[in-house]
Amino acid sequence: MARILVTGGAGYIGSTAASILVDRGHDVIVFDDLSTGHADSVDPRAEFFEGSLLDPDALRRALVGVSAVVHFAGKSLVGESVEKPDLYHHVNVDGTRNLIDAMKLFAIDRMVFSSSAATYGSPSTSPITEDIQGSPTNPYGQSKLDIDQMIGAVNLSAISLRYFNVAGAHLSPSGWLAERHDPETHLIPNVIKAMVENPLEIFGTDWQTPDGTCVRDYVHVVDLIDAHIKALNNLRHSKHEIINLGSGSGYSVKEVISSAQRVLGRDIPVVNAPRRAGDPATLVASVARAKSILDWQPTKSLDQMISDTQVALGLK
Ligand code: UDP
Repeated sequence: MARILVTGGAGYIGSTAASILVDRGHDVIVFDDLSTGHADSVDPRAEFFEGSLLDPDALRRALVGVSAVVHFAGKSLVGESVEKPDLYHHVNVDGTRNLIDAMKLFAIDRMVFSSSAATYGSPSTSPITEDIQGSPTNPYGQSKLDIDQMIGAVNLSAISLRYFNVAGAHLSPSGWLAERHDPETHLIPNVIKAMVENPLEIFGTDWQTPDGTCVRDYVHVVDLIDAHIKALNNLRHSKHEIINLGSGSGYSVKEVISSAQRVLGRDIPVVNAPRRAGDPATLVASVARAKSILDWQPTKSLDQMISDTQVALGLK
């Protein structure tokens, strides 16, 4: 059993990680400033430390006795990052520098970092391998790339996991952990909400893709956290690895809507809307490295992501 600090552990992905790490017998401390997370998403079996990455004292207090850090905390919305690039750099990059500096003080050198496919920008090759030279199309992706480079330049045993599109929900002992963003910007919860709220806006139908809508690679949050646990067990002395987490298959926005109509047995009202700033046309992962290094592959389908999200949101 190890004492693990989960930054951002009140958010969607971090709260799922904290809960599953506790299930696996770890001693978990959640560190979150609740700026976008929710206190009631924090697993009650974990210790909760309310604090910000921008507060070095708080980080130092939270790190006492910790042997590894799983770092999710940060701003994560592409559209917002285009409007507030400085905020994204400050919270994500400066905040992570504070975290790494505090870890150094305690000689903690093990970290799993929540990176993103947004680091790649809009590459011409598909699927995307980790060795391509990234050129992010938005400040969110740039901040994650800056952090990956920062981690690579210091003496940490670290794995940056580059998530493609995370979806689905986790049934923890204290209830469902799901996306609870306000406003919600992500496709799958918005598709489900469109059954009962406003029609789903399709952001662009003139992309260079087979049906004109953006193609993404969706991965279930429970599969994703399984990869984090494998990554924690695979940290190698003073080495930094970058590993994609996705399914290896792409679905267009229209294909996601069709799947949801089939899974939910309901019609999803849609309206065509302009392209969203910062969006690349296609992002599909090569998952060969995750398989070879972590012995990981996803087990849950897009249909499962849609049905779990529906149940978790209570929208039947
Ligand atoms: N999208 C959409 N309508 C929405 C939300 C998302 O058409 O209400 C599109 C978005 O433009 C992108 C894809 O769905 O092409 C996935 O977007 P999401 O925000 O879920 O994830 P991202 O790819 O930005 O990380």
